[in-house]
Amino acid sequence: MRRATILAAAVLALALPCAAQDAGPKIFISVDMEGIGGVGSPAMTSSSGKDYGTARRLMTDEINAVVAAIFARGPAQILLNDSHGDHQNVLHTELDPRVVYIQGAIKPLGMVQGLDASFDGVIFLGYHAKAGDPDGFLAHTGTGSVKGLWLNGTEVGEGGMNAAFAGMHGVPVILAAGDSAFTAEISGQTAAETVTTKTAETPSAARLIHPDVVRAELGAAVGRALDRLGTGSFRLFDVGDPVEVRMRFQSTTHVDILQAIPGMSKADGYTAVYRARDADEAYRLIRLMYRFVSQ
Ligand SMILES: [Zn+2]
Repeated sequence: MRRATILAAAVLALALPCAAQDAGPKIFISVDMEGIGGVGSPAMTSSSGKDYGTARRLMTDEINAVVAAIFARGPAQILLNDSHGDHQNVLHTELDPRVVYIQGAIKPLGMVQGLDASFDGVIFLGYHAKAGDPDGFLAHTGTGSVKGLWLNGTEVGEGGMNAAFAGMHGVPVILAAGDSAFTAEISGQTAAETVTTKTAETPSAARLIHPDVVRAELGAAVGRALDRLGTGSFRLFDVGDPVEVRMRFQSTTHVDILQAIPGMSKADGYTAVYRARDADEAYRLIRLMYRFVSQ
C-alpha cells in the first residue's frame, strides 16, 4: 500500500511538468474601451452616454474573437483585466467561459492587475494614444488632468506604461489593438503584432473600420503572435531602474499638493518628479497620482 502511494506520487511528480506544458501559453489581456472596433464617440465610452451598452457588447465580442483565435491553436490560460473607467464594462456573463476575468477598479496595479512573470505574453485591446497626441482618438493618459507622463525621459501613454510594467517582469506585449495613433505609438516601444481599429477624424470623432473586419484581423494577428511566442522576436519595453517618473498636469495646484509625498519634487510649476525603485513602484505611484488628481 505504502509502495503504491510512493509510486503514485512519483508518477504524479513526473506528470506535473507535462500537465503544465499541456495547459498552453499563459496570456494576460488588458481591455480598454476607446480603441474597441465600432466605438466612435466619447458618449459610447461613458456609462451615462448614448450607446454605451453597444460599446460593452462590442468590447465583449472583440475579446471573445481574440479568445476563440487563441484556443483555436490549442490549450491556453487567459486572464482578462477590465481596464476602462470603473473597470466594470465587459458583459462578463457572456464572455467565453474559458477566460478568468478581473472586474472592479480598486486595485493597486490598475490596468495590469494580475500580470506577473508567470505569463508568456500580454495583449492590449481597445487602447488609445497618449495625452496630447493630435492624431489620437480620445487620447489621454490615465485621467484628463494629466498632460504628459515620462519614464526615465521617455514619454509614454497607458500602453507604454503598461508595457514597461510587463517588460520589468520579462513579459512581452505580443498583440496590441486600438486607433492608428496608438498602434503607431506602441510599435515604437514593442515589436507586438498590431491591429488598427479606427483613425481619428478629430480627437473626438473616428473613422471606423467595421467591427467584423476588426475581429477577422485580430484572429489573424493572434495566429501570427502565437507563432512568434518563444522565438525571441518580441522586444521587452524595459525602461530600466530606478525609474524617474515625471508627470505634467494642467494645474500647478496638483503639483504643489503632491509635494506631501516624501521624495516628490518639482521640475517646474506644472511637473511633478519622483524617483521610483523600479517599474513596479513607479506604476503604483502613478496610480496614486491619477487617483489624487481625478478627485
Ligand atoms: Zn484608457
